[in-house]
Amino acid sequence: MSATISREIRLKHRPKGLPRVDDFELTEVPIPALEDGQVLVQNHYMSVDPYMRGRMYDQPSYVAPFQIGEPLDGGCVGQVIQAQGSVPFQVGDYVSGRQGWREYYVSDGSELSRVDPAHVPLQAYLGTVGMPGMTAYVGLLDIGRPKSGETVFVSAAAGAVGSIVCQIAKLKGCRVVGSAGSASKVQWLRDVAGVDAAFNYKEVGSLTEELGRLCPHGVDIYFENVGGAHLEAALDHMNMFGRIVLCGMISQYNENSAGPANLRFAVRKRLTLQGFIVSDHADRRLQFESDMRTWIAADQIKWEETVVTGIENAPKAFIGLFTGDNIGKMLVRLNPGAA
Ligand code: NDP
Repeated sequence: MSATISREIRLKHRPKGLPRVDDFELTEVPIPALEDGQVLVQNHYMSVDPYMRGRMYDQPSYVAPFQIGEPLDGGCVGQVIQAQGSVPFQVGDYVSGRQGWREYYVSDGSELSRVDPAHVPLQAYLGTVGMPGMTAYVGLLDIGRPKSGETVFVSAAAGAVGSIVCQIAKLKGCRVVGSAGSASKVQWLRDVAGVDAAFNYKEVGSLTEELGRLCPHGVDIYFENVGGAHLEAALDHMNMFGRIVLCGMISQYNENSAGPANLRFAVRKRLTLQGFIVSDHADRRLQFESDMRTWIAADQIKWEETVVTGIENAPKAFIGLFTGDNIGKMLVRLNPGAA
């Protein structure tokens, strides 16, 4: 092992509104010598995720806030390049972990899971076969409870979670309508993900009119990734006893804004609105992995990645989630030698 220095990204300021590159700083740290029972992991890819914005506020949530001057963390995949003493990992093992936003890290192995890049590329463990894929799976199937023939509306439909929701809903026999923020995303949704209809929400005059036009029989399940005007439009068109799966509300992560003006419709339409956090559903992991393996082998699930290269560009990749720079999963490649 030749590396003696690792570069990492630290939080410099708590962002106000849309984060800026100078809210973050790149720092070099020495890699310590391993102690007995430790491994050194070289990260190949790290994930940037919308929930990380919530951790930049100094407030309690379901994950602890990031601290100013400290490195950020999050999902990552890489390879064990050194192992000392008795550890359940060997040099060469591919692993997923939680110490993203840095090039190398030392671990006692307790947070690591071995992953196999033989059937899907390594970085898919941060996307379709990882946390976003699992979010789509439990959110749609367990919270949304789709039935064949129902209409499912998905916002941020060309993103990591949304794109998988759309395809699982199609596999379950639903009619699927997606919204996304560019013409190329809309085209991908129609041509590759196979949705029944898709629209660019930035181009339509009225979201609610467009949704009504594309869902003439109403919406049975709204998979909510965005919040704001999308939720309001969905509430306008929900059918009786519809389900709104509250997965995320990215349009509100950088600002406090008012809720939908028509929430009262939830009463007369007997709607169920249910939030969920994927980490509460670990009991579904094995079934998710088995179903996803089957679907991928049958070529029934497709995915995209938007890959930014270099730890120094990780803040830019993260900010890009809020400006729609990604189609599919937004990733940062940390090891230029990685596939
Ligand atoms: P995506 O890959 O979907 O990336 C975010 C996308 O959101 C962007 O590409 C952009 O696409 C869209 N977007 C950003 N800002 C706005 C805005 N103001 N209005 C409308 N669309 C916007 O991210 P993920 O798939 O990782 O996450 C999707 C959602 O799922 C998020 O809300 C996230 O917080 C949530 N989530 C929830 C989890 C849970 O356990 N509940 C777990 C994981 C994710 P576009 O070009 O279409 O605007």
